[in-house]
Amino acid sequence: MSHDPNCIFCRIAAGEIPAQKVHEDDELIAFKDIRPAAPVHLLIIPREHIATLADAEPRHQALLGRMALLAPQLAREHGADNGLRTVINTGPDGGQEVYHLHMHVMGGPRPWKQG
Ligand code: AMP
Ligand code: ZN
Repeated sequence: MSHDPNCIFCRIAAGEIPAQKVHEDDELIAFKDIRPAAPVHLLIIPREHIATLADAEPRHQALLGRMALLAPQLAREHGADNGLRTVINTGPDGGQEVYHLHMHVMGGPRPWKQG
C-alpha cells in the first residue's frame, strides 16, 4: 500500500501526527477536521495514499463505496441526525489543499460557519 512520508494525512494514518480519530478500520480512517466548518466536521480518508479522486482507479471502487457508506453512519454517531453534507475537493480548481483523498462529512444544526 502506498505511503507518502511527506503527506500529512499518511502521517495521521500512521499515527505519526496526532488527530482526533473517530473511526479506524483496515482500509479507512476518520478524524475531526482541525478547522471545522460545521458543528460536526469529519474527514474520511483511505489508509492508502491516493492523491485525489481523479487518481482513483477501478480497483478503488469498493473503497470509494465504503467511504460513502461510512459518511452517514459517522454523522449519525456524532449527533448529526438531520442530514449531512459530503464534499470531495479535487485538484486546484476543486479547491483541494491536502493531496491525499478525503471526504468531508459535515452536519449539525444550521447556520454553519461561512466560507
Ligand atoms: P481540502 O483539501 O481543501 O478538501 O481540505 C483539507 C482539510 O483538511 C481542511 O478542511 C483542513 O482544515 C483539514 N486539515 C488540514 N490539516 C489537518 C490536520 N492536521 N488535522 C485535521 N484536519 C486537517
Ligand atoms: Zn497520503
